[in-house]
Amino acid sequence: MKNFTIITLGCPKNTVDSRHLIEALKREGFFYVEEFKKADFILINTCCFIGDAKEESVEEILTAAKFKADRILIVFGCLSKRYGDELKREIPEIDAIFGVDENIGIINYMRKFKEEKVESGNNADYTVEPKSYRYLKIAEGCSRKCSFCIIPDIRGKFRSITPESIIKEAEEFVRAGIKELILVAQDITQYGKDLKGYTLKELLRDLSQINGDFWIRLLYLYPSDIDEKLIQVIAEVEKIVKYLDIPMQHSEERILRLMGRRGTRKDYLRKIRQMREAIPGVTLRSTFIVGFPTETEAEFQSLVDFIEEVQFERLGVFKYSREEGTKAYYLKGQVPETVKQRRYDEVMSRQAIISLEKNRTLLGKKYEALIDYIDADMAIGRLYCHAPEIDGVLILEDTGSLKAGEKIKVLITEAYEYDLKGVITQ
Ligand code: SF4
Repeated sequence: MKNFTIITLGCPKNTVDSRHLIEALKREGFFYVEEFKKADFILINTCCFIGDAKEESVEEILTAAKFKADRILIVFGCLSKRYGDELKREIPEIDAIFGVDENIGIINYMRKFKEEKVESGNNADYTVEPKSYRYLKIAEGCSRKCSFCIIPDIRGKFRSITPESIIKEAEEFVRAGIKELILVAQDITQYGKDLKGYTLKELLRDLSQINGDFWIRLLYLYPSDIDEKLIQVIAEVEKIVKYLDIPMQHSEERILRLMGRRGTRKDYLRKIRQMREAIPGVTLRSTFIVGFPTETEAEFQSLVDFIEEVQFERLGVFKYSREEGTKAYYLKGQVPETVKQRRYDEVMSRQAIISLEKNRTLLGKKYEALIDYIDADMAIGRLYCHAPEIDGVLILEDTGSLKAGEKIKVLITEAYEYDLKGVITQ
């Protein structure tokens, strides 16, 4: 038995973990296959960040269990780390369960079956990620104590990955023709806190020295840890796309304190002003939680005012999800689901208007675009202001001889709430 396939759920960090596992398994002589039917092993990398993510993971496991026949079903990642025993009990078709960072255990387990059947895979290129971009994980875990979040329990304390290994991986990607490196961690502003005198700023400068035509994108900056020097590096280094994803979660001090988060509305507004001044054209993205325990209607309305005032180019909203084992789980004053839904809908509909207005300002302008996929009769790409799998996309109807992974100049011709349309230009 040698063929395996992998289903990855959840965040970009899971995508990176799956990639590393695939590479390690290939080195061990296993073959990656895309088709479920051809696989001897089905691996599912699960997520349990919030209720919806858990449900999606469980549904995937159930589907795999239904069609597994004599295949080996292995479940790993965040959900199995947290609910391993329950999963095994409820879904007996699962053959093995592993948590996070357990590649060696998974490989050893799979080795036991390896010689049982003649090989049939061809180890084609790993095609789970497109040709244009790669996630580059720069740290593991998180040492913050946000009261709604289970991640530190699952993924452990924050540990920076060494600059040498990040740079080596980045060089390999650039050499392979990848045009966008997306730096991810639970919170990249903490990078280097456990290294001597080497911080995110040094890492960004070093990565930008790699020869080649590529973008660097930064995902997840903790708002109160963005300092002037970091803003300056982002503004100065050309390869860094002027797009910042800064989860703020709320604007009101009482709720932020209950969430165990630092900063205040005033600090956030000041930082946003600094960023907009220092980085012209910057796209700001943030995420907010509505319906956190005890959130009053007035506090929610203040949050809406904050969002209106800032006019984020991109915004994600989550309804508070009560996670067992977190501090917030035990808070009195849980908000009813109907209220959460109404608050969620209100923010989403306000943001749809802001988003459309922001997208319209791009009309008639020229930008560099990166092509992610070519579909039958259209090309799907992105501008600097789109993070893959998170934001909208750029659609080009005339594909010509375009290839995935190519960078081109485009003129924006149509703007919608999330997506843009454009044509190739000089
Ligand atoms: S910063 Fe807060 S929300 Fe983000 S992973 Fe760490 S504890 Fe969770």
